[in-house]
Amino acid sequence: KEPVPSDIDISRAQQPKVITEVAEELGIKESELEQFGHYKAKVSLDVYDRLKDYRDNGNYVLVAGITPTPLGEGKSTTTMGLVQALGAHIGVPAVANVRQPSMGPTFGVKGGAAGGGYAQVIPMDEFNMHLTGDIHAIGAANNLLAAAIDTRMFHEATQGDKALYKRLVPAKKGKRAFTPSMLKRLQKLGISETDPDKLTEQEATRFARLDIDPATIQIKRVVDVNDRFLRQVTVGEAPTEKGFVRKTGFDITVASEIMAILALSKDLEDLRARAGRIVVGTSKSGESVTAEDVGCAGAIAALLKDAVKPNLMQTLEGTPVFVHAGPFANISIGASSVIADRLALKLVGSHPGADPATKGFVVTEAGFDFTMGGERFFNIKCRASGLKPNVVVLVATSRALKLHGGAPDVKPGQALPEEYTQENVQLVRQGCANLAKQIANAKSYGVPVVVAINQFVTDTPAEIAAIQEEALKAGATAAVPSNHWAKGGAGAVDLAKAVVEAAKQPNKGDFLYDLESSVEEKLGAIATKMYGADGVELSPLAKEQVASYEAQGFGKLPICIAKTQYSLSHDPKLKGVPTGFTVPIREVRLNAGAGYLYALAAQIMTIPGLSTHAGYMNVEVVDGQIEGLF
Ligand code: ADP
Repeated sequence: KEPVPSDIDISRAQQPKVITEVAEELGIKESELEQFGHYKAKVSLDVYDRLKDYRDNGNYVLVAGITPTPLGEGKSTTTMGLVQALGAHIGVPAVANVRQPSMGPTFGVKGGAAGGGYAQVIPMDEFNMHLTGDIHAIGAANNLLAAAIDTRMFHEATQGDKALYKRLVPAKKGKRAFTPSMLKRLQKLGISETDPDKLTEQEATRFARLDIDPATIQIKRVVDVNDRFLRQVTVGEAPTEKGFVRKTGFDITVASEIMAILALSKDLEDLRARAGRIVVGTSKSGESVTAEDVGCAGAIAALLKDAVKPNLMQTLEGTPVFVHAGPFANISIGASSVIADRLALKLVGSHPGADPATKGFVVTEAGFDFTMGGERFFNIKCRASGLKPNVVVLVATSRALKLHGGAPDVKPGQALPEEYTQENVQLVRQGCANLAKQIANAKSYGVPVVVAINQFVTDTPAEIAAIQEEALKAGATAAVPSNHWAKGGAGAVDLAKAVVEAAKQPNKGDFLYDLESSVEEKLGAIATKMYGADGVELSPLAKEQVASYEAQGFGKLPICIAKTQYSLSHDPKLKGVPTGFTVPIREVRLNAGAGYLYALAAQIMTIPGLSTHAGYMNVEVVDGQIEGLF
């Protein structure tokens, strides 16, 4: 048997189609395409309007995972394999919608995120670096906001009320005029003035001073590099800042609220409104201060006016892939954009009233395991989009099931213990308790579940049969071994057929919790129903934060819990299906613009570090070609 070459070698060996051809096949007009080189293009949101009444939505498939090992169980690989099988082998229109990888992990330990083997996005080097600059644009928008906040505090501290007011309200042709964001702020303050110079002294002062409490500032600067030395920095050290120094830090760009906003917005207008709602901190009198108040929301939207357009690429077998947005999977939703999903679902949809069998498929992915990515997909992303998946594909591997069944831990870069390389049906069967719980979790949303057994060369027929049997017992509609990593779409034809069959079933479930319930009730619902916990326990700090959010009117937002993906519980050591635990909530934070609260059940690093032998050390340019990405 020939060994499977490296991901970059496979990617390089395949000549991609020019992107105009991929677009044409998908029904995108030339005027709706903005090309970036030969193999990437941005797609105009006009496509959605053109097809709005003309086409129904296609079938919406969510690929999610069981509780993984640290090696990853192949969700991205399965997403690519499935669309290759649908689009290139059984002839059903199919689009994969995936996140844009951050260059932090690309040059860190994890490597790229294009899938792997013969199920990949190509060209994988272009996919993994820069793409069309969306992450850079997010960095620019975020850092403009951060600069606006510090500068505003500086000006408020160094200028008198009148001077501040006069400088903030620009004079045009001798008359002062409020910008739209200033008018919004006046409205919010209940000041009904239209002739700016007629504001009373008190009104002008209230208008001019945001009075931000520096200790409450939520916006950090960002960079798309695993630069651990920026975790904590002091800004304002130059003499020109007159001693207004402040301790702050950097996050990786994809951890920013603006990235989450890009993922959850329906269009540019929605993005603009959400940018305005970003709470940057609290005033000294306890009121929330927004990006709108700082006057920065319009500029954020301007910087992102091209980033809202999804990027079109292709799989190894020439089927279309939308790459768009890439929010963190722990403190954010870990899914690609609502905009790309809506666009793709129209493109593969059929005429209203036509036979539903003519509809194509959009396959997208939720990061981490189902208790994290899957849960947020339904309760946060679907709430924002108004969409609902027709099928969940749950990716399982024998190696993860063996780990849950009691095999020793596995570590990246180390040889697998023999339990993993030799047949052990008993360990697999014991581990299937985790699979069964994740199937039940997914089914609780009323969606048929197809288990994809991502095949590894060491899997044996008896192990695979055991997984199939346990999955069906747990209520999966189908459980199908899939060999797309080694064989591309041809290896995933059975999986694709099972998904097509499952999509004929109804999907009529509900959300996990009611937005109207209290924050603590929502946290409790996620912990008990998804994780199998006895409940949650909030720290005194978390309780205080929840009370303050509820008082400010943010209590009705959905919630994202940041915990480990390596256990159903909050403790990565607890494998299988742990019981008898209570989830500790240390802190609760607010992303009012993105539209959710996030709770920390673990210490979360929002800018990773680089290892001694990091990914970047392998990267080289040879004869103009990038080598060494994996
Ligand atoms: P996830 O999306 O779940 O994190 P990925 O699809 O990125 O997982 O896969 C993780 C790694 O495992 C990738 O390097 C991929 O190439 C590899 N991989 C995935 N499936 C297989 C398989 N069936 N056999 C061997 N390696 C695989």
